[in-house]
Amino acid sequence: MQVVPYSARQFYLVLPPPTHPLRSAAFARKALPPPPVTLSGITRVVGLFGYPVEHSFSPLMHNRAFAEAGLDYVYVAFPVPPERVAAAVAALPALGLAGVNVTIPHKEAVIPHLDGLSRTAELIGAVNTVEVVDGARLIGHNTDAPGFAAALRRGGVDLAGQRVLLLGAGGAARAVAFQAALDGCAEIVLCDVAAARATALAAEVAGHFAPCRTCAIPLTAEALRPALAAATLLINATPVGMHAGDVYPIDLAWLHDGLFVFDLVYNPLQTPLLAAARERGLGASNGLAMLALQGAESFAIWTGRPAPGESMLATLEGHFGAR
Ligand code: NAP
Repeated sequence: MQVVPYSARQFYLVLPPPTHPLRSAAFARKALPPPPVTLSGITRVVGLFGYPVEHSFSPLMHNRAFAEAGLDYVYVAFPVPPERVAAAVAALPALGLAGVNVTIPHKEAVIPHLDGLSRTAELIGAVNTVEVVDGARLIGHNTDAPGFAAALRRGGVDLAGQRVLLLGAGGAARAVAFQAALDGCAEIVLCDVAAARATALAAEVAGHFAPCRTCAIPLTAEALRPALAAATLLINATPVGMHAGDVYPIDLAWLHDGLFVFDLVYNPLQTPLLAAARERGLGASNGLAMLALQGAESFAIWTGRPAPGESMLATLEGHFGAR
């Protein structure tokens, strides 16, 4: 083992030697130097509960952000199998963690083990961030929703008054639909291959936000074409576009002037939908900013400090090779 003096505060970071397979496998893939990590007897720990978690880039993004903000925090990925969720959540106050992110498959399963939910998490019915309040109470938040709104604002788009066509009614679409209604969209039209899922989500949103006209439509050209023509904001919250040859439920030739296109997909960064939108001269964003800014919201919840959102996005851009 090699001991590297880390800072003037004389904390030490113990790393495997540069040739160690663990170290080279972890970092060769990213073509980036490892994030600086400060560990001490008072380092606050946050992390990720999911199963699996090995693929996660949240440790990279958050540890860089903590270092940049000068905060003595560390972010660790914890693989928590489903049968251990209750025990893992119960251990948070005992271990003194400031909080955790929660990912697949635990976003709904953690809820019964928490003491309270933010309004957004309650509406969406899913938690992606747990906050340990006063070392004792566990509050569940959903930062996908405000992360989505922040990403749109970053693209110059305000949700208020928008007429939205939302493709998909799964987990991410739930966060998008409730946030869009919370932020004053005029209309949300939903569709999904699982038609009953779209109908149920439309009814739920309509039940909470009557002024926002919300409905579900079938996945047919007859229904989708006029819905898109009337929309000011098209949001893709399906996985369509992640793989070569994917077929969208809309015809990309139907994109029209004045439409903004937001694709939650971030891998690849440029989907066929985004390419078609940009070719037409439309405003368009991929899902990378949403990913970074939901992380920034979690960072702020745990630390009480504003997150360096732009540099968190830059970390992801480096990771995904956007530069
Ligand atoms: P999900 O829960 O599986 O929901 C996807 C929904 O889309 C499902 O209801 C699915 O139906 C439906 N669908 C699949 N193909 C479709 C098609 N051709 N037309 C209409 N509907 C279709 O997944 P998710 O977690 O919501 O994620 C959706 C996408 O958003 C993924 O690409 C994910 O990577 C991305 N995402 C991005 C962020 C971000 O921060 N940028 C955050 C979350 C998710 P079936 O279940 O019947 O297939």
